Amino acid sequence: MTICLLNFKLINLNFKELLMEQKDIEHFKKILTNQLKELLIHAGDTVSGMTTPKENLPDPADRATIETDRNFKLLIRDRDRQLGVKISKTLLRIENGTFGICDKCEEEIAFKRLEARPVTTQCIDCKTKEEATERTLGL
Ligand SMILES: [Zn+2]
Repeated sequence: MTICLLNFKLINLNFKELLMEQKDIEHFKKILTNQLKELLIHAGDTVSGMTTPKENLPDPADRATIETDRNFKLLIRDRDRQLGVKISKTLLRIENGTFGICDKCEEEIAFKRLEARPVTTQCIDCKTKEEATERTLGL
């Protein structure tokens, strides 16, 4: 009887470790949806900031500042756009049930890793290997 109970507990434990619970999925979905919303609001700000006409400044130093400012905004916008694509893809992964599964080895991605970086598509092992390869190739 005791052994039976122990076994049952072990099975339960394994099951819990292997499958992400629905509430965890919802938790990530909420985080990602909010992140995407913020990105879109932020992107709107950047675009309207860029279209404001401030071009007719006589001082070249001022013009340079605006140039730098604009480059900076473009850079931010590009990074936001990339992150936006990643978040959208991750939300799709949640929809089709592949969220939290490594792209390369199809193993589960550690929960802690997902917590730190929900848009990740690879487990830490595969990511480490990939980065090592990139370093070797000098990328
Ligand atoms: Zn992997």
